[in-house]
Amino acid sequence: MALLYFRLFHIAFTIKKNSILFQNTSTATCSIPDAMKPHVYKFGGSSLANPERIREAIQMVRCDPKCLSVVVSAFGARFKGDLKATDLLLRYVAKIEQPRQQAKILTQVKARFAEIAAGFEETASFDTNRYWDHMAKIFAANKHADFFITRGEHCMARLMALILGFRFVDATEFIRLERGCYLLEQSKRQAKKIRLAETPSVVPGFYGLTLGGFVQAFQRGGSDISGAMGAELLEAETYFNCTDVNGVLDANPDLVPNAQTIPIMSFDELGEMASRGASVVHSYALRPVRRARIPVIVRNTRNPEHQGTLITRREDIPTRIPGSILGLAGRNGFLPIIISKDGMDEEVAFLATVTRIFADHGLNIEHIPDSRNAITVIVNGKAFRRVEKAIRNDLAKKCHPDSISIGNELALVCVVGAAMREHSGVAAQILNTLASERISVSTISQGGSEISIVLGISNDKYEAAMRALHAGLL
Ligand code: ASP
Repeated sequence: MALLYFRLFHIAFTIKKNSILFQNTSTATCSIPDAMKPHVYKFGGSSLANPERIREAIQMVRCDPKCLSVVVSAFGARFKGDLKATDLLLRYVAKIEQPRQQAKILTQVKARFAEIAAGFEETASFDTNRYWDHMAKIFAANKHADFFITRGEHCMARLMALILGFRFVDATEFIRLERGCYLLEQSKRQAKKIRLAETPSVVPGFYGLTLGGFVQAFQRGGSDISGAMGAELLEAETYFNCTDVNGVLDANPDLVPNAQTIPIMSFDELGEMASRGASVVHSYALRPVRRARIPVIVRNTRNPEHQGTLITRREDIPTRIPGSILGLAGRNGFLPIIISKDGMDEEVAFLATVTRIFADHGLNIEHIPDSRNAITVIVNGKAFRRVEKAIRNDLAKKCHPDSISIGNELALVCVVGAAMREHSGVAAQILNTLASERISVSTISQGGSEISIVLGISNDKYEAAMRALHAGLL
């Protein structure tokens, strides 16, 4: 550990934060007989927000003799508006020039961990206050943000290991990353070297170690990714992703109060839902388990009797009613940037130039509906406003458009379901449902896979659209 801290002191951030990629490595072959394969659990912050929640998580693990590894997030919010550990730690890092503010934040972090530790006799030997004073000292010396913001998971894993009587294994001991990529083969070798598969362990989620010896954090919500990596490395039978809802719901319950659990869905369908706004499981998290053909069960720590959602390969899903819809996802706050130019359809690579400009300013494009003389680039509104001037300048310089205008804010609503494929009338049904509520559709798109249809509608009709579609289609 001392060596690691020493190395962290010499920081060189060459790796773009929050950008873990999964290389196209060969599919893992399972050498363990099925009956002997272990289970891997991941508990999100909401399942670890206070001692009561943690007891429920512990109970789940103790009830499963096949559980070999538990991957944990840092503590989450206890109530609406409460701050998660990572939010507090990010604020701490941001207040680098304001020691008094930092001290206040550190007091909050310490209080939450002390409260958690005090809930369990097994943690008596672990002084969380000393732990955090020590981590603050290291951060003051090395200024390594990724190291500090991941200490929430690290501290939580140490506590959970004591409570469960499992071995604590730091993610830095086996999760290997480089240039934003997850290194599967190196991670496998490391996992073997430290005999990860031999004793039940608790592992902090949300980070790994670069080949240069630096801690690298994943994206927000990235403990899902760590759990999936652990499941792949341990050749798990099942990856249990435990959270505070009854699985993946067929709509956002904040908008649609009678949203229902989806009992079974494919990795592709979950990927569509997750990337369009359903937030239960991180969309990247699916890649390692999907590659290793490990089914995922999303389960509610607070309601373990509930079956939750099984996410598995398309081939293992029973046939559904043709044309049926599985779920809805959506997000609002998008802006359509309309770029018009007479004759653009005859200009070679006009679209490529436009997308390059948006990419150069770090903007992710959601959709590009087009007509002969205008293309509409749909992007996150807040992100666009931050770089609007620069983008307008570049577009004017490199594309010479007749006009650039910005439309009203849009919500993008995504209707998901693989059974829509090759079935006529689904889009008509969706549009009729919206029309009956007088909701007009600004943009519509469906990819060749026909697994989802994305509709752009006015921001202020977002909730009404979700409710109408849920009532009409599900
Ligand atoms: N604690 C991190 C976050 O809040 C990672 C996670 O919970 O998965 O984003």
